[in-house]
Amino acid sequence: MSQFTNPAPVNKAALTEGFSWPEGNKSALFTSFDVDAESVWLGMDPKNEDRLVTLSYGGYEARVGVPKILELLARHEVPATFFITGWTVDAYPALCEAILADGHEIGHHGYMHYRPEPGNIELMAEEIDRGLEAMRRRLGITPVGYRAPGGEGYSDFLDLMHQRGLRYSSSWRDDILPYRHVVNGRSGMVEIPVNFSYDDWLYGITHRSASRALFGREAVLSIWKDEFDQTHEWGGVTTTVLHPQVSGRPMRFKILNDFLSHVRAHDDVWLATGKDICTHFEAFEAAKERGGTTS
Ligand SMILES: [Zn+2]
Repeated sequence: MSQFTNPAPVNKAALTEGFSWPEGNKSALFTSFDVDAESVWLGMDPKNEDRLVTLSYGGYEARVGVPKILELLARHEVPATFFITGWTVDAYPALCEAILADGHEIGHHGYMHYRPEPGNIELMAEEIDRGLEAMRRRLGITPVGYRAPGGEGYSDFLDLMHQRGLRYSSSWRDDILPYRHVVNGRSGMVEIPVNFSYDDWLYGITHRSASRALFGREAVLSIWKDEFDQTHEWGGVTTTVLHPQVSGRPMRFKILNDFLSHVRAHDDVWLATGKDICTHFEAFEAAKERGGTTS
């Protein structure tokens, strides 16, 4: 049925009603990073393989960005989810082990950072399978969450990921609460929607193919604080889309430090990984099914 001839709500997922966060918390902070390293540049253009300065933007992530971010998270005692490409897992296994050693979650972010686009299901199946295989072989883990490189998605791909055992996606932009996808008429993965205002790529990186001025501390911090404060009041989840090759840069690091201090000044924010939120949502659904409530 075409949306051009038969307009209908695109997202068939039910609204999440009667939901609350654990331990009486008013809202949740889902601190998440996308660790692309060089794969985002390789996936963008195969010719970048020989463009060493272009690739060095991604290289910053392993050399400086991720270690600094890990220090920051430890200082603020904030658990996080790192969505990592399989390429990065293969190229930098020790970096990924350091993330796990600090108690953070690792999620799936494709293999070569290829974007899900309608019609590319075979390529995306390979992305998912290669990523899962790299994480099993290098780290001995099976991720349960996925974030789409380039932030796109389509029904058959959601179906495919669900069949591969992934439990949640964190890519959609249409809610402030988790919900369960309805895909091709069937129940699908849990979605933990993202807030694109927390995509640091928008404010903090400039390079040859997209040369522009950066946004300063006051501009970014005011957006981040305002989004958080209102989401908190509404009882939603604040989901970040940060990149260590951006927020691990010296001055961007300070912005994130100030933002985490702002959040940590509250005592009613649940600091959670994507897996924590997904598990809580699944328990909420199970309790609803039984006719009870969850807290
Ligand atoms: Zn990415």
